[in-house]
Amino acid sequence: MAKTADVVIIGAGIVGSSIAFHLTEAGVRNVLVIERETRQGLGSTGKSMGGVRAQFATDVNIRMSIYSIPFFARFEEATGHPSGYKPRGYLFMATNDSHMSYLRKNSARQNALGLKNVELLSPEDIRRVMPQLRSDDIIGGSFCPTDGFVDPESVMTGFMARAIERGATLWRGTEVTGISTSHAIVSGVRTTNGDVQAPIVVNAAGPWAAAVARMAGADLPVQPLRRMLVLTEPFSGLPGLPERLPMIIDMSTGWHFRQEGLGLLMAWADPDQQPGFRADFDPAFVEKILTHAAARVPDFANLAVNPRRCWAGLYEMSPDHHAILGPAPEVRGLYFANGFSGHGVMHSPATGRILADLIVHGETQVIDAQDLNVQRFAEGRAIEETAIL
Ligand SMILES: Cc1cc2nc3c(=O)[nH]c(=O)nc-3n(C[C@H](O)[C@H](O)[C@H](O)COP(=O)(O)OP(=O)(O)OC[C@H]3O[C@@H](n4cnc5c(N)ncnc54)[C@H](O)[C@@H]3O)c2cc1C
Repeated sequence: MAKTADVVIIGAGIVGSSIAFHLTEAGVRNVLVIERETRQGLGSTGKSMGGVRAQFATDVNIRMSIYSIPFFARFEEATGHPSGYKPRGYLFMATNDSHMSYLRKNSARQNALGLKNVELLSPEDIRRVMPQLRSDDIIGGSFCPTDGFVDPESVMTGFMARAIERGATLWRGTEVTGISTSHAIVSGVRTTNGDVQAPIVVNAAGPWAAAVARMAGADLPVQPLRRMLVLTEPFSGLPGLPERLPMIIDMSTGWHFRQEGLGLLMAWADPDQQPGFRADFDPAFVEKILTHAAARVPDFANLAVNPRRCWAGLYEMSPDHHAILGPAPEVRGLYFANGFSGHGVMHSPATGRILADLIVHGETQVIDAQDLNVQRFAEGRAIEETAIL
């Protein structure tokens, strides 16, 4: 006889794990999470930079962060496991008037939504944070001290462990090969470990989400995009480099970095990168990113990088760089939790809450996620988020 579940979640990354946690917290016990890899974290979650920020430009992203960041701060209380949350802040640096007025406008919007601790900075303030920056062209910036970092693996496994304690089941090493439907209503999934009957199936398949949606005949505009991170070798410290370095973002190029162990972890969105599943690290990227690093911090020209310690993973891009959350309009019982466009770690708590509310109550109770339904693309309601890193 086929196994039955109240809800099947496809994918046990940070998003599937958060949904399992929030569903079991809402009292749904028979939740089955299916992961094709033999362990969790081999998708995007294990590749993430772990950055969390509320400094966004759109209301819905700001609200998702206002729910999620305090959640990371009390994660241990909620799950019994650490999140590794470090409130080091994100510091955006502007070099032209349009970037500065963008930061000003965003901070007013963030403030109006309840985020009261975003400060606008002068060039002197920024120089004080990091005297090694070349600052002759910096005209100001913004800083939010509760932005920072988490440990994505720890958050993912913490969510899942507590969900399992409350009755959820995790199948590893099991691939979902099909979604069963009858008259456009979900009835379960087919897997390499047999069939499962379930009235609700959640697509939490990260960069592979479009293929999973197609299993039910649904269209989901999510594309994978390679993203590379460069880790420098440990260095003994530059004089004056602060001990509690924030994430620092040079808006003139998009280059940004944070401390990682005794080195630095750097990222930059290469405009030449084309969508696709290629996820190897390209050693030629090191020179490109170090050019941006040295242009902003001359001392960084001498940083040593071993390409074998750098890595790449896949962003899951949606057309408007916002998550796609909620029921699939063409298939009853199928839900999307996809398209995070590089923000799936930081928005995983809000996503879990939104999906659990939609599944259990048919509407959201804490965060209004109407703007994030997939219908927005067909209805011309796509949102533009320009504060993408
Ligand atoms: C280099 C890099 C840096 C990043 N930095 C940040 C950051 O600083 N902050 C931030 O918030 N986000 C960041 N992100 C984005 C973040 O990592 C993702 O948005 C997030 O991890 C998505 O989580 P997920 O659970 O949806 O996907 P995943 O972690 O990819 O999980 C999806 C899972 O589904 C499984 N799966 C797929 N198909 C099937 C199937 N048919 N059957 C069974 N299982 C299946 C996969 O094996 C995978 O484990 C970064 C991403 C990358 C690549």
